[in-house]
Amino acid sequence: MRPLALLGGTFDPIHVGHLRVAWEAAEALNADLWMLPASVPPHRAAPGASAAQRLAMLEAALLGQQRLRADPRELRRSGPSYTIDTLCEVRAEIGPQRPLVLLVGADAFAGLSTWHRWRELFDHAHIGVLTRPGHGGVFEAELAAEWFTRRVADAGALREAPAGRILPIEVTPLDVSASAIRALLAEGRSPRYLVPDAALAIIEREGIYGVREKNA
Ligand code: ATP
Repeated sequence: MRPLALLGGTFDPIHVGHLRVAWEAAEALNADLWMLPASVPPHRAAPGASAAQRLAMLEAALLGQQRLRADPRELRRSGPSYTIDTLCEVRAEIGPQRPLVLLVGADAFAGLSTWHRWRELFDHAHIGVLTRPGHGGVFEAELAAEWFTRRVADAGALREAPAGRILPIEVTPLDVSASAIRALLAEGRSPRYLVPDAALAIIEREGIYGVREKNA
């Protein structure tokens, strides 16, 4: 059965790293992929753009293709966005059989055992770990134990079960991060070509991250 893959994040702002690795993972898994902006991220400082702006930038970036789409459910829930709640919701919608793959970058995966009810994630989804420059494979003991028992080597293994496996997914190394983009903007520099044009237009139009309108 065609898997459904989910990529959660703050997307503050969406950048070419997110888009390209999401695209490559969707191809590798032969999956549909939903990108889910988090409302109040439990693990990080408040974002620079509002929830509505982060969603608008994401939707603008995804125009013109069908495979990746934005799913705003975490922004509609009150309180922090716990991935376990999202997985339970999506699992209830898609039924028990369809493979569900939670995609996380290698940096996010390394912190997985700090996530709310993290062990239950495997009851509802597989985890696909996207390679990311500068983030290697050193995990604390509990996570390492899950890695060694659940890890599979190819995407076919994720189609044979609805949940519970871990697949490392080798993607093009793109050393792009939202925090580096916000730092550029704070210096008055442009993130052009790191952020899709349609999202950059929203940043400039709405003055997000303190950007002053230059072309008005
Ligand atoms: P920040 O720099 O603010 O922490 P970020 O660039 O990591 O942000 P997030 O929205 O936090 O962006 O990322 C969402 C998900 O995408 C996370 O699982 C993250 O690991 C992954 N990700 C983001 N950028 C990349 C990249 N360049 N390569 C691989 N994975 C990435």
